[in-house]
Formats: sequence, C-alpha cells, structure tokens
Amino acid sequence: MARYTDAVCRLCRREGQKLFLKGDRCYTDKCAVTRRAYAPGQHGQGRSKASEYGTQLREKQKAKRYYGILEKQFEGYFEMASKKQGKTGENLLSILETRLDNVAYRLGFAMSRAEARQLVRHGHIKVDGKKVNIPSYLVKPGMTITLKDSSRGLDKIKANVEANAFRQPPKWLEYDAENLTAKVIAQPARDDIDFPIEEQLIVEFYSK
Ligand code: SF4
Repeated sequence: MARYTDAVCRLCRREGQKLFLKGDRCYTDKCAVTRRAYAPGQHGQGRSKASEYGTQLREKQKAKRYYGILEKQFEGYFEMASKKQGKTGENLLSILETRLDNVAYRLGFAMSRAEARQLVRHGHIKVDGKKVNIPSYLVKPGMTITLKDSSRGLDKIKANVEANAFRQPPKWLEYDAENLTAKVIAQPARDDIDFPIEEQLIVEFYSK
C-alpha cells in the first residue's frame, strides 16, 4: 500500500501546527514546529495570505496528514460521510476517529499513528477477540479492542503503554487500563475530537 515516506516534520511545519506524527519527539523542545515556526522551503518565511481556496485546501491537508491518510482514501471517507445523516464535516471526523490504527494510538499502544498502523498490520490488535490486521478497519459501538496476549509483554509495547499512561482515552472508548482493553460505547461526537480543525472548510473544499 502507498504511504508518505518524506520527512514528516515538514508536514507539521507546512500546516503550522503539531500533527504529532513522530511520537516522543513531538512532546519535546526538539519538535520542528517549536524550533522553526514557519513553513518549510525557500519561501517558507515569506508566504502571503492564503486565498479562500488555499485555506480550504490546507484544512483538508491537515486532517489527511493528522490521520496519515492518502488522497484517494480520504476522498472515499468524505463520500461516506456525505451519505450519512447529519453534518458531513462532523461525520467525516467521526469516521476517521474510528479507524483501528487511530484507536490503537488513542489507547496509548503506540507513540504515533504511524506506529499504531504497524501494530495493526503486524497482527498485535484484536477486535471482538479476533486478530484484525487492517489499519483502516472501522470500529463500531459494542466492539471490544485489545492487544493480543503474546504482544502485551513486548518491550516496545510495554514502554508505549507506560509512556502514554498520562493520556486520557476519549470518552467514546471505555478503557480498562489493567487489561489493556477498550469497549466502543458510542460513535465519536464532534466534541470528542480535540484536534483543532475546521471541518466545514473541508466540506467547502469538496463542494467546489
Ligand atoms: Fe510534528 Fe512531531 Fe515533528 Fe513536531 S516533532 S514537527 S509535532 S512530527
């Protein structure tokens, strides 16, 4: 499957905010957004005010990069969101949140969504007792997500769980920290998503 392989900190600098793509480093003063708070490239420090289209495009790019999704798949999610009842922008964020790689990241099993994607691909995550190795798998209310028994003792996973213990899982996930298991108790609502994003701009981008 295609994936972005360039330097990820450039993406954050381009969007002008932390997208938390690198794990531990994102929480230190080594973060590139903290050290160089301007867009990358030769003209990064002298960019003029963005047009309406430019602003909408940036918001779409920001969401795509935050969740680590490529264009085609993101468009697919948008289409799915537009067919659901309710506000398309909110539906879109709700769908993105329920990706299994995002859930593994939110539960603290990985330091970044990219690492969470690897965990899922390598079969460390179970849904309703069965191994699921598809990062884009969408969880639904009532499902249970957990780490495979044999994965719990892996040094890297243990270290991640420990390092992320301070992060509160979102309230649509009922988390049992002792058993490293979570139950989806609701579809994520707009106020469950703390990432600063103006989803209406994404809707406007695709409505052109
Ligand atoms: Fe983004 Fe993390 Fe790099 Fe900072 S360290 S620029 S938050 S990926």
